[in-house]
Amino acid sequence: MAIDFKLAPDVEQVRQRVRSFMESRVRPVEERLVAEAADRSAYRQEIGRLRDHAREEGLWNPHLPAEWGGMALGPVAMAFVSAEAGRTTIGPYVLNAQAPDEGNMHTLLHHANDEQKEKYLRPLAEGRCRSCFAMTEPEVAGSDPTLIQTSAIRDGDDWIVNGHKWFISGARGARFAILVAKTDPDADPPQARNSAFLVDLPSEGWEVVRDIETMAGHGNHCEIRITDLRVASSQMLSERGHGHLLGQARLGPA
Ligand SMILES: Cc1cc2nc3c(=O)[nH]c(=O)nc-3n(C[C@H](O)[C@H](O)[C@H](O)COP(=O)(O)OP(=O)(O)OC[C@H]3O[C@@H](n4cnc5c(N)ncnc54)[C@H](O)[C@@H]3O)c2cc1C
Repeated sequence: MAIDFKLAPDVEQVRQRVRSFMESRVRPVEERLVAEAADRSAYRQEIGRLRDHAREEGLWNPHLPAEWGGMALGPVAMAFVSAEAGRTTIGPYVLNAQAPDEGNMHTLLHHANDEQKEKYLRPLAEGRCRSCFAMTEPEVAGSDPTLIQTSAIRDGDDWIVNGHKWFISGARGARFAILVAKTDPDADPPQARNSAFLVDLPSEGWEVVRDIETMAGHGNHCEIRITDLRVASSQMLSERGHGHLLGQARLGPA
């Protein structure tokens, strides 16, 4: 029996809408910016204008539910929206669905408390700031986050964090980080050893060491040194020992 690879009608419809928006609105602007060797402020200004068009055309925050100003698309539709937006460089930013913010919004939506949502999800969903997600470390295999060495030790109402991260996308210029650290080194199973924290940036003890070059050149994937970083216990995201679970949920749709 032949497999039917046709997309569901609603997925195909949104794919075509995004494709047409990217071709008619976004690509001409991007080509002009490239031809003019435009600087960052010109890019920012043009992306701002295009974002207004995306909002008008109902293509803003495709990954978020309606109450957060989004289109409430599921993972299949999002895969095709991302593929269409990714045909241009600035496309994902225009829809406010760029990595790592899109995945961070998803994480905050499902794991943050109401206060954290207002402080961190609201400005991200409104396109007013950027964020980063800090889990991978140079000393251990990123494929297995139970090996994470960055430690968080309780000190009164705070946690003191020390460690080393790398490949942290978007770290330069991020207003906050979702940081995964080991709070319970003896927990069994090892998947219960990590917790996640919301860290306001810049913060004393959080140092961006360098932007690590990849095959695509410099892309703001940073090495971070964390030295005696003090984080209030109210900044824990989700429950203590749930950092691994949160990471899995975060990276699933990413
Ligand atoms: C462009 C880019 C952006 C990134 N952005 C972020 C970010 O924003 N935040 C963040 O926290 N991380 C980020 N990362 C890191 C990414 O999550 C890690 O690279 C990934 O988890 C793999 O970890 P690693 O690089 O340590 O490789 P390793 O885990 O060391 O893996 C190396 C190789 O060994 C294989 N391997 C590993 N373990 C096993 C095993 N047990 N059995 C068989 N094979 C195995 C892997 O498949 C791989 O081929 C980014 C990476 C890149 C390249």
